[in-house]
Amino acid sequence: MGEGMRDRALRVMEECACIAEMSEEPGRITRLYLTPPMHSVHEYLRDRMEMLGMRVRVDAAGNLRGLWEPRGYRQQRLVIGSHLDTVPNAGAYDGVLGVVIALEWIVLAQEMSLSIPIEVIGFSEEEGVRYGVPFLGSTAVAGCFDRRLLDLRDRDGKSLEQAIRDFGLDPGAIDQAKIDNDVIGFVEVHIEQGPELEEGDLGVAAVTDIVGQTRGTLTFTGHANHAGTTPMHHRRDALAAAAEWISIVEDIALRTEALVATVGRVFIQPNAVNVIPSVVEVSLDCRHADDSIRSLAVGELITRGRDIASRRGIATDWSVLANHPAVPMDRQLTALMVDAMSAAGLAAKTMTSGAGHDAMVMARRVPATMLFLRSPGGISHDPCESVLVEDIEASLHVARKFLERLASSVG
Ligand SMILES: [Zn+2]
Repeated sequence: MGEGMRDRALRVMEECACIAEMSEEPGRITRLYLTPPMHSVHEYLRDRMEMLGMRVRVDAAGNLRGLWEPRGYRQQRLVIGSHLDTVPNAGAYDGVLGVVIALEWIVLAQEMSLSIPIEVIGFSEEEGVRYGVPFLGSTAVAGCFDRRLLDLRDRDGKSLEQAIRDFGLDPGAIDQAKIDNDVIGFVEVHIEQGPELEEGDLGVAAVTDIVGQTRGTLTFTGHANHAGTTPMHHRRDALAAAAEWISIVEDIALRTEALVATVGRVFIQPNAVNVIPSVVEVSLDCRHADDSIRSLAVGELITRGRDIASRRGIATDWSVLANHPAVPMDRQLTALMVDAMSAAGLAAKTMTSGAGHDAMVMARRVPATMLFLRSPGGISHDPCESVLVEDIEASLHVARKFLERLASSVG
């Protein structure tokens, strides 16, 4: 008897725990882009990759790349990966799980004598914490890296260009991080980071779409005045108007199927207990898998904000910070994943991702799909983030079926 899937799933858990120790902060998991603990992670995974007979390199954007080429192969390669950076005070599985599981896909491919080469990528930067711009690693791999990004500065004033040099890499070679054209597709395994699978009592799901997103700021401008001497009907209270609008944001999201809308930040001027607020800036983050539903909702929200403001004699100004369309996953590759789930005896569950992922960036260049694993308690970006060993095990059964199907489809 060979090694069981359970043992492999336990190994994945152990490796995630091991990598979690490689942190910038003792007792917490924090590993930002191009920081010293990322070197340790690379060394650790490089060893594992080399033991699996993979050729390993770190590209100029800091992505760890391991390539397994079966003897005498003729096919294009499959790319599997996720990210190795974390948010501050993170959990042990967001991103890392997908890289460690990818190595088990290599083990499976070798056992099956698969004739498809597989490249595993540990993306260097997905969260965007250090430079405020997410997906830097996958953007370079997708060949969409704008060289002006090299001028970005971190909190200490260090440029991205210098950080790349300090990590021992050549910022001039960033174009060489771009992936070749000989790719069948990209697969990212990731924790769901939400409650949907747990609520459905399911372990894994294939991802069909990644939601589109609008981010913007609605500014309400009224008049500051004395909180004691200004009668209520004389006021131009920007915060009272904003408060009314915020409850409408929640209401419209509740009334629109699958829409999520969040006000996460409010700036108040002058922000004093005895002064009527004059200017209030309210952030909006609105997401949906259908771009037209999202645009309609955002349009309605802006109109409602203006109506509230004009009734109160207050001015409004809407400014858009980001408008990202939804990204569908590749239909064929996703269908193959769903088929693999059924063949593994699992429910053919599909879902939309409410969070952005490297797969969204890779989809610009290659067919991409994702496999989600249940997030117990729906918790992520928190030390309590977890994953169930049986779900990892289930995902490995799916992986085997997926590789079998992929091999016969590329024949
Ligand atoms: Zn992630």
